[in-house]
Amino acid sequence: MSETMKERKEKLFSAMKNGYDRMEEQDFVGMQAYCEAYKDFLRRCKTERECTRRGIALAEEKGFVPYHRGMHLQPGDKVYTCNRGKSLMLAVIGLESMAQGVQIAAAHIDSPRLDLKPNPLYEEGGMAYFKTHYYGGIRKYQWVTIPLELRGVIACKDGTLVDVVLGEGAEPKFVINDLLPHLGAEQGKKPLNEAIPGENLNILLGSQPVGDEDGSDRVKLHILERLHEKYGITEDDFTSAELEAVPAVEVTDIGLDASLIGAYGHDDRVCGFAALQAILELEMPNKTAVCMLADKEEIGSMGVTGMQSAAFDTFLHDLCESQGVALRECYENSFCLSADVTAAYDPNFGEVFERRNASMINHGMGLCKYTGARGKSGASDASAETVAYLRRLLDDAGVVWHISELGKVDAGGGGTVAMYMANRNIATLDAGVPVLSMHAPFETVSKLDCYMTYRGCKAVFEA
Ligand code: MN
Ligand code: MN
Repeated sequence: MSETMKERKEKLFSAMKNGYDRMEEQDFVGMQAYCEAYKDFLRRCKTERECTRRGIALAEEKGFVPYHRGMHLQPGDKVYTCNRGKSLMLAVIGLESMAQGVQIAAAHIDSPRLDLKPNPLYEEGGMAYFKTHYYGGIRKYQWVTIPLELRGVIACKDGTLVDVVLGEGAEPKFVINDLLPHLGAEQGKKPLNEAIPGENLNILLGSQPVGDEDGSDRVKLHILERLHEKYGITEDDFTSAELEAVPAVEVTDIGLDASLIGAYGHDDRVCGFAALQAILELEMPNKTAVCMLADKEEIGSMGVTGMQSAAFDTFLHDLCESQGVALRECYENSFCLSADVTAAYDPNFGEVFERRNASMINHGMGLCKYTGARGKSGASDASAETVAYLRRLLDDAGVVWHISELGKVDAGGGGTVAMYMANRNIATLDAGVPVLSMHAPFETVSKLDCYMTYRGCKAVFEA
C-alpha cells in the first residue's frame, strides 16, 4: 500500500506546532500554578539583590543549607552559596561522581534599569533630582513619564548596610519627565535613540522647599532631611550606594484570555526562576545539578558577581574537591543550559525577523544554537552534538520547544552567559523564554513558554 501525500509529508516535514496543540490536559493545571509562583517571585524581586535574597529563602524552605568549604557531602545533599548578596549558586549532589560531569542551568538576575550616579542629588528650577546612569541596553525614550521606584543598598562608612525601598505599594513614586508635544518640534525630528539623551534621565524627587525663603537648595535639603529621617544617611553616603530606579509597574496577566504575563524584569528572571524552581524540586539526581543565578549579564558578565567571575569555578572546585575530583575533569563532562530569554516574533516589527527562524510566542522553550552579531561574532555557537543532546532530553521529557535566531542576520544581535560557560570547557547551549518588548520597562511573555522553560530546566537536571 503506497503512502498518501499527507503521510509522506508527516513523515518528513518538520511540524512546528503551537504549544497549545501539543500540551496535555494536566500541563494546563501545572502551568497556571507555576505562573502564579513566578508572578509572586517577580512582585518581590526587582533587583539582583532581592532575587538572591528570595532565592535563598525559597531554597532554605526546601532544605538547602549554606555551603562551607570542606563540608562532607552525600548524594541528595542540597547546598547553596551566595556571592556578595548579588548572585546565587545552588547544587544538589548527584548519585554519580562529579567526574562524570554536572548538569548546569545558568541564568542572570540583573535587569536593565537606571542606576544613580555617585553624586546624584541636585536642585534646579525649584525641583530636586537624582542623576542616573543607565545599566544595560535600554531604549531611553521608554523610561520617561512612567512611575519609578528606588531600590538597593547604601553601604555606610561604618560597615552597616542600609536597605532602601522607596516608592513601593502606596508610597509616592518617582518620574522622569519628557517634553510636551507643543514644544517638541525639534526633538521630534531626532532619531529615537537620540531624542532622550542619557543626561536627561534625571529622576524628579520633590518640589517642596524648607527653611527661609532667601536660602538656596531648600528642596534638596528637604529631600536629604527625609532620607536622613528614614535611613540615617547624609549626601556623602550616596558615594557608596547601589540605588536602582526600576519601573513601578504591577505584574499582571495580559490579554482577555490571560495567556501572557506583563512585568518588569522578565529578562532574565523568567529563566532564573525557572532554573531555581527546577532545582528546588530535585531530590536525588543522577548527576550533580547546579543552578547559577548570575549578576552583571546586562553589562557583559564582568565583575566579581558576573558569570566571568572565578566565584563559579571556586564553588565547583570546592564541590569537586570533596569527591577527590579534578575540576577540569568535571567541566569537560558537564552540560550547561544557558537559560536566557530570546526575542519573540512581533508582527508589528516583522521586518527585523526572519520568519522561518524566529522565536514564536506559545511555541515553548526557544533554543538558540548561537547568538552574537555580524556573522555570529561573540557567540559560543553550540556544536551539533550538543543541540542533539538537548533535543533528545527535551523530547523525552515532553517539553515543548523550538529553535530560532534572535532576528535577521544583519539586523543586530545580542549575547548571553553562554560563551563564558563554553570558555570553561563546558558544552553549552542557549535556551529560554521568547519575550516581547525585551528590555522595555514592561515586557511580555507567554505563560506556556514560561512553564515549558521550567520543564526544560528540570529535564536538564534530571538527565
Ligand atoms: Mn538576558
Ligand atoms: Mn538582556
